[in-house]
Amino acid sequence: MPRPASLLSRRCAVADDRSPPRPLPRCPICRRPAQEAARPFCSARCAQVDLGRWMTESYAIPAAPADDEEER
Ligand SMILES: [Zn+2]
Repeated sequence: MPRPASLLSRRCAVADDRSPPRPLPRCPICRRPAQEAARPFCSARCAQVDLGRWMTESYAIPAAPADDEEER
């Protein structure tokens, strides 16, 4: 007798995935509700700001010399 495994796994997935009441997070830049078009930011502008921060940080890190490429 086959068991309704698909049904069971489905339930499990739903329970595991428990989606929050508000799927859209807040913009980490300006704390406004995020827009679906620019998730997780509220707008493309904030996305740019975040990207800019990232770039700045990576540039600020005193990392290893740039010519450490392994191209032989
Ligand atoms: Zn924002």
